[in-house]
Amino acid sequence: MSAATRPTPASEALFTRARAVTPGGVNSPVRAFNAVGGTPRFIRSAAGAWLTDVDGHEYVDLICSWGPMLLGHAHPEVQAAVQAAVARGTSYGTPTEPEVELAEEIVDRAPVDRVRFVSSGTEATMSAIRLARGFTGRDVVVKFAGCYHGHVDALLASAGSGLATFAVPGTPGVPASSTELTLVLPYNDRAAVERVFAEHGDRIACLVTEAAPGNMGVVPPEPGFNRFLAETCARHGALFVSDEVMTGFRASRQGQWGLDGAVEGWRPDLVTFGKVMGGGFPAAAFGGRADVMGRLAPDGPVYQAGTLSGNPIATTAGLTTLRLATDEVYAHIGAAGETIKEAATEALSAAGVPHVVQASGTMFSVFLTDGPVRDFADASRTSAPAYAAFFHAMLDAGVYLPPSAYEAWFLSSAHDDRAVQTVVDALPGAARAAAA
Ligand code: PLP
Repeated sequence: MSAATRPTPASEALFTRARAVTPGGVNSPVRAFNAVGGTPRFIRSAAGAWLTDVDGHEYVDLICSWGPMLLGHAHPEVQAAVQAAVARGTSYGTPTEPEVELAEEIVDRAPVDRVRFVSSGTEATMSAIRLARGFTGRDVVVKFAGCYHGHVDALLASAGSGLATFAVPGTPGVPASSTELTLVLPYNDRAAVERVFAEHGDRIACLVTEAAPGNMGVVPPEPGFNRFLAETCARHGALFVSDEVMTGFRASRQGQWGLDGAVEGWRPDLVTFGKVMGGGFPAAAFGGRADVMGRLAPDGPVYQAGTLSGNPIATTAGLTTLRLATDEVYAHIGAAGETIKEAATEALSAAGVPHVVQASGTMFSVFLTDGPVRDFADASRTSAPAYAAFFHAMLDAGVYLPPSAYEAWFLSSAHDDRAVQTVVDALPGAARAAAA
């Protein structure tokens, strides 16, 4: 189907109104189509694997709200639980039973002894870093280029002029003083990690990393890399903070840790969570070792709080989602992903488009560059014009991909044969568009 056959006047009218009252017309930049051009589709409703826009067009959803919708949209059991919770009131500002149950579920699956709820992944990493600094009495934070941890000032940092030099702000509005205690290293680079710890080890409070980066496209940790990071931190008295906001309860039942730490026998000191554990509501968390979490207020001196933290609707949605996220769910998502990965490889190869498909557990990305992609510099070689053409051809054929070349493609247990076949059928035309 060509673009002309899918006119979008209602989305265009809403986008015009949106831009008059909201910067860029969107409430999070990646929702805009700046990287691919055109008008974002305004979505009216969603069910299962499908989105319906305000012009009545349907799309197979490969964004899944940027990760949370593990069970697909409007799952009947999640909806029923949420509706029952809403009927009991929406926020009390007191402890509630769903918070306890969700915390128990997370402690049961993930390598944490205690967990504290917040409302966004940004808050989770910001709070984890404060706690790591408070616990160790040190200030320096190490992160990797291409890893995104939310819009935390200290983590919106680009590498300085050389390895082991302190970072510069990655955006206007972040003072140099906010990033001057942040060190940014290339991902998957053990030698860089060793050098930085040799030089600054006694000042490093924590190293924070995406457990398997998904924000530069999916760049899996090389075998043993996370374990190496955990051991290096331990040797220098720094905390290893594993950001599982995207991978948690998504890459596998136990997140990325289920694919490496649980198998290799190590645990991070602190872990951040978000997305899936909120079941489509604003909920996130950080957790970790009992002695570290014990430093948090009210037990300890490190302050952290939130009016809507552990909100009963959000925790009910998250708890219901996690209870339904069985091994079968992950097996289904994995199998659907295999079919799409194979079809993408075949279509792009047939069209002669350089590409590499990378995965970590059930998360995957298609990079339009020769592989492998092992760090941000490699990911940056992706062809932006080719991706824009590919994206629009897919959209036109009824598949909503992330409007950026540097994102994971997300699936859900609701991606059934019809949805997967729609994606498979769209790929050859999109690959030819990318080649043009
Ligand atoms: N950490 C990771 C790994 C993420 O992918 C994200 C968001 O995409 C965040 C943190 C920030 O989460 P939020 O957007 O809920 O603030």
